Amino acid sequence: MHSILKDARRVVVKVGSALVTNDGRGLDINAIERWAAQIADLQKMGKEVILVSSGAIAEGVLRLGWEKRPSHVHELQAAAAVGQMGLVEAYERHFREHGIGTAQVLLTHQNLTDREQYLNARMTIRELLRLGIVPVINENDTVVTNEIKVGDNDTLGALVTNLVEADVLVILTDQRGLYTADPRSNPDAEFVSVATAGDPALEKMAGGAASTLSKGGMITKILAAKRAARSGAGTVIASGREDRVLTRLASGEMIGTQLNPSSTVRHARKQWIADHLRASGALILDDGAANALVAKHTSLLPVGVVRVEGSFRRGDVVSCLNAAGAEIARGLVNYGSEDAARICRAHTEEIEARLGYMEQPEMIHRDNMVVLSDN
Ligand code: GLU
Repeated sequence: MHSILKDARRVVVKVGSALVTNDGRGLDINAIERWAAQIADLQKMGKEVILVSSGAIAEGVLRLGWEKRPSHVHELQAAAAVGQMGLVEAYERHFREHGIGTAQVLLTHQNLTDREQYLNARMTIRELLRLGIVPVINENDTVVTNEIKVGDNDTLGALVTNLVEADVLVILTDQRGLYTADPRSNPDAEFVSVATAGDPALEKMAGGAASTLSKGGMITKILAAKRAARSGAGTVIASGREDRVLTRLASGEMIGTQLNPSSTVRHARKQWIADHLRASGALILDDGAANALVAKHTSLLPVGVVRVEGSFRRGDVVSCLNAAGAEIARGLVNYGSEDAARICRAHTEEIEARLGYMEQPEMIHRDNMVVLSDN
């Protein structure tokens, strides 16, 4: 078996805060030099590489001379803005040594859920890749607060993987990869070298806390792999301190934990719907509609909707919940929340009488719907 990076054409590499900032001691210039050299190798092998780099907050805290990571959101945002300058300066300088240009791309969850902004981000990154530039991506921490954040760069890496339809997501961390249990406390813990992304057993293995520097732990990496697999990408979780890790992976060597995608690949538009981390509202379905939706992937008609929750506009992404409150699907709704509430339980021929117009007979058309329970 060889690493999935060998045959990959487009690769997203995510590096975590602990690695980038030398466990919070300051930008690890040697590490950045090494990654730049390795990414240059990958480009020579004909691969396109996108870098998702954390470390802005950790570096900003250091540059501001603060003792520890602040808890106040505006201080965190200020630290991110200061630290991001250090990150991009270091990447630009060290990629230049290999004749490679870099570009800063700061994204928010909102950018990725707005269809137009999503498409613009995708076109821009593709254009940068065409130009041989390495996009260096981070969350735009300055403009988002906790409630509306992607929150961790493992998830952001997966969203970017789906955005650009990359073949592989490589998550470089300060650990070797995934173990069946915590190796520090359990002598029976075994290393997982290959598994299938989305396998529920992985989520059980990966419990445990994140470090104080970064937002993600192993669990966010496992969930990121699951998310990336939905667009057909595989994920490799490996140590960024391993010698020439990217170059060796790209030559086919198996290093770290490789999580292969299973066979079901979603169309890019449906992937975009599924990648909304938060829905604007919810439709509660009766059992008949819920079952038909899951088993037959039918459209959702107003007659199957019992109740509407939240406030949303036509075209927003809403959740479809079954009677037990579990989210079974998600889709672009054809009616705003007020009108949707007025046509709950209505047969198609009643819609016009209730609203004075009929936009579409479906509440959510099947083409705009993603069933989540078969993930
Ligand atoms: N965007 C954050 C930063 O650059 C990192 C989030 C994370 O650690 O995953 O500091």
